[in-house]
Amino acid sequence: MTSPQLVSSEYDARIRRAERLAAQHFFASEFLDFYKHIAAFQKTLRANIAASSGVKSSSAPPTELRDPLELAVLLPHFRGYLSIIEKHAPSALAESARQMSLLPSDSWIASLEAHWEHAGKYDQQIGAFAQFLARAFLQPYAEFRAALLPRAPMVMTVRACPLCGARPLSGVLRVEGDSGKRFLLCSFCSQEWEFRRIHCPTCGEQAEGKLPVYVAEQLPHIRVEACDTCKFYLTTVDLTKDGHAVPLVDDLAAIPLTLWAHEKGYSRLQPNLLGT
Ligand SMILES: [Zn+2]
Ligand SMILES: [Zn+2]
Repeated sequence: MTSPQLVSSEYDARIRRAERLAAQHFFASEFLDFYKHIAAFQKTLRANIAASSGVKSSSAPPTELRDPLELAVLLPHFRGYLSIIEKHAPSALAESARQMSLLPSDSWIASLEAHWEHAGKYDQQIGAFAQFLARAFLQPYAEFRAALLPRAPMVMTVRACPLCGARPLSGVLRVEGDSGKRFLLCSFCSQEWEFRRIHCPTCGEQAEGKLPVYVAEQLPHIRVEACDTCKFYLTTVDLTKDGHAVPLVDDLAAIPLTLWAHEKGYSRLQPNLLGT
């Protein structure tokens, strides 16, 4: 179990990193300024979720990450969340938050439950923008659940998150020995699992010549790891190059890389929170 202090400092680290990247990279500053408001809300929500679940000690702990949502804990925070989005988001998203706020709570529940069941697994066809409202709201809850679940020992390279079954958001290289070890970061519950270095997480390609890596000058610690067999790519945050990076946040700043990859005909496996 993760302590409340540790959790809240994790969110603080995301907020600080967003501030720093926004100051350094003008192209990402609008997105990152908005993200800071989301992360601040998520920090409060996560603390509230932990407090409410502590009170209800009679309820059994979850056995699966995607066990049914505790709507009694979550719903009271949804209206306040929508007004934060309405106030700080880019206009189209602010408008969709405003429209959602006018709907009855049955519609909120339907949208949250659909996201909870399918996100990261079968949502390729739904626009990332349309998913945003449920995704940003439920992310702290998914992270909370993930922290309660025991980790099974990893015996093989799996392409979907071993805890929740979602596709990876991005890769992470962490210092280990004299080089880096590769992990994949889950797009739904934000946990990492170890993954082979030369191996496409989409189609399983292992031929080095088919797996080109690209780096942009502005962001030397972020790589585009592409696959010429399936034409998908993953951004990978290289912590061996910048130990201060926070993968979830640095990925949001990787706009030039994303544009470049799309121009080259590669598709992203799973869009990030801001749909890039
Ligand atoms: Zn997961
Ligand atoms: Zn591939």
